[in-house]
Amino acid sequence: MKKLILLLLFAPLISFGQIKEGIELCFEYKRAVSAFTSDKEANEALDKILSVIGASRNFTLTPCDNIFNALAVTYKGERYILYDGEFMKKISELTNDWSSTFILAHEVGHHINGHTRDYLLAPILDDNSLAKQRQEELEADNFAGFVLAKLGASLNQTIAAIDLITTNDDDTYSTHPSKNKRLAAIKTGYSKALGNENIVITGDYEIKVADEYYYNGIEKERSGNMAAALILYNRAIDFNPNNEFYYAKRAGIKEEFKDFRGAIEDYSKSIKINPRSEYFVLRALVRDYENQITKTYTDLRGRVIYGTPDVMLDLNKAIQSDPYNSTAYFTRGYYKYRNKNYYESITDLSIAIELDPENLKAYEYRGLAYRDNGTPFEADMSDWDLTDAIKDFTKLIEIDPNNSEWYFNRAVCYNLSYGSGYRSLSMKDLNMAIILNPNYGRAYAYRASVKRSLRQNSSACEDIRASVRLGWSKYNQISLYCD
Ligand SMILES: [Zn+2]
Repeated sequence: MKKLILLLLFAPLISFGQIKEGIELCFEYKRAVSAFTSDKEANEALDKILSVIGASRNFTLTPCDNIFNALAVTYKGERYILYDGEFMKKISELTNDWSSTFILAHEVGHHINGHTRDYLLAPILDDNSLAKQRQEELEADNFAGFVLAKLGASLNQTIAAIDLITTNDDDTYSTHPSKNKRLAAIKTGYSKALGNENIVITGDYEIKVADEYYYNGIEKERSGNMAAALILYNRAIDFNPNNEFYYAKRAGIKEEFKDFRGAIEDYSKSIKINPRSEYFVLRALVRDYENQITKTYTDLRGRVIYGTPDVMLDLNKAIQSDPYNSTAYFTRGYYKYRNKNYYESITDLSIAIELDPENLKAYEYRGLAYRDNGTPFEADMSDWDLTDAIKDFTKLIEIDPNNSEWYFNRAVCYNLSYGSGYRSLSMKDLNMAIILNPNYGRAYAYRASVKRSLRQNSSACEDIRASVRLGWSKYNQISLYCD
């Protein structure tokens, strides 16, 4: 674990553990908001840097507080530059405005030179010697010197940041080279630019070309051009057939185009290179999606079967390969719910929630599984305990009080509960669901039936009319409710 973090620009004053936590928080955050907004200035600086070398914009620039650094990392096959805005500002204040651009250029240099490996894989695969790492730092400095010269910074402005924060102490046991070596590398890059030479990028040519296609493919995919992305991923694989991420990305596109066989094959190739838990989950989902579309597996009544054995096998493998993968447990629990295997479904979903307490879908399906568990129409209703189901939906409502479905689901649980007072709670939730979503046909239909059992017939009739108007109930229901 000694080198969890790749390519620290500066000798860290805080521990790896702290930085690791910071990065993970940033990725967690990203998952929560699904898109990052980095500040305008940093983005403009990045664009300028890229314009110098003519590279396209296939980095995600991500503000990440409290890492006291800037970092070039790849995470699940995508390139990120994480930066601590406060930290960059401080360095600039102590030196000059070019310093933040220098730091960014240094990180771009790491990416362009192919130094960065996947953040998740780093602890396992990282066999980089310190000497090699120091060499990489010099390459990134060299690159940054080149870029800043092209952008018009003076040599003094270019070296100021490194001059400020490095020392000439012995670097034998350090990930970062000593000051004089770094300044020399920057100067070499700087004069190359003035002499109109091109920057030389080190490393394996084929892999670099492949990466360029791949990252451009990601960009096309993000802009919604799936066909172009597919072509680029194909090219990437032509140049380098050994990268798990290329296949996984291409599989996603093939799935979009409903080429299920192709997608399954590609995930299988990713798995062969690296049996990551999430590839098994993704392959399971494609298998099921194919079945939903082609309806190859149906029950006696012609209804599509969810989570056929091949799907479940992949999910078992996903859990085997990473017993901490909340998504894998959730997915398996979901299919078990669809297959009416409520008891086991609840077990899986509970583990999913334990591993990731913010997995809202897991609460939702566990609530439904608790609700549907048991046989209320055969057994004594009073034994049928919906407390756990109600708890899950209450929890969801606490987290997001504006989701009409959770009110609806809790209303159903209240209505099915044995005992006085539950019906009025059910009515309250249904009213809320309809306030939140006035086009909720199903909620009108359900409220109509609750109202009828409360003998509010004319009001029930109004609800059923609304439900018919919204396309949820059939027209002939009106005659049943409105006599
Ligand atoms: Zn570095």
